[in-house]
Amino acid sequence: MQAVKYRCYGLLLALLCCSASFVYASGSIVLVVDDIGNQRAVGRAAIDIPWVSTVAIMPGRPYTQELAEYAFEKNKEVIIHAPMSNMGDFPLGALGLDRRDGKAQLLANLKQSIETVPHAVGLSNHMGSRLTQDREAMQWVMAELKKSGFYYFDSLTISGSVAWQVAKESDIPWYRRQIFLDHYQTEEFIAAQWQKAVLRAQRGEVVTVICHPYKETLAFFQTLSPTAEELTMSQPLSAVLNYPAEKATPLPPVNQRNFPEEA
Ligand SMILES: [Zn+2]
Repeated sequence: MQAVKYRCYGLLLALLCCSASFVYASGSIVLVVDDIGNQRAVGRAAIDIPWVSTVAIMPGRPYTQELAEYAFEKNKEVIIHAPMSNMGDFPLGALGLDRRDGKAQLLANLKQSIETVPHAVGLSNHMGSRLTQDREAMQWVMAELKKSGFYYFDSLTISGSVAWQVAKESDIPWYRRQIFLDHYQTEEFIAAQWQKAVLRAQRGEVVTVICHPYKETLAFFQTLSPTAEELTMSQPLSAVLNYPAEKATPLPPVNQRNFPEEA
């Protein structure tokens, strides 16, 4: 039922988008802001970015619930940003997913995350360069997400991630990240990455972009004043998902370059 709901939503947004096609091709930008939950003011400012459609909130943080409620009130889509084990062994913090803790503990942390982030409809990985390459562990994760009707968004923090493939095989809706906006926090870099995303969307592509609540990122979006027509390109993740039973939207190949773990 959940899948049907997402599909209807997607169709509705696609129709709305077509009505604005005199301005742009039918491409779209999904801007996801990651790492929300530790700081209230910065988190709110990031959620308020007009282009942000989807908010990835970390479980078990001081402002997890408050900011999930805030995002929902602002009509932003909420997903869980689950910390996952990584090759650098950076600490995961609360409710991290690590197979070295055992399957039972991993699933207990995942279930608790699902129960304690209000309004969440999907899940993405925070870090995760180790866990997302672990097919069996990702099968455990996807089986649990399926029970809750969640989708999976692969942050693709390492090119060898099998997470999105396992989501597809596990019969849950999925998508994967295409552009990191701000892994270098300079105005020039962020502006250039954003320009890439906009150009691709104007050519008709669906472009998924991850940003973070860095002060440089917030400052960059304050310099933009998107028109209503431009914002019709902005869609939540649930509007662009691939469904396992359907032919997947063609996606650009996975960039073989790996990215910093803070994604
Ligand atoms: Zn993250």
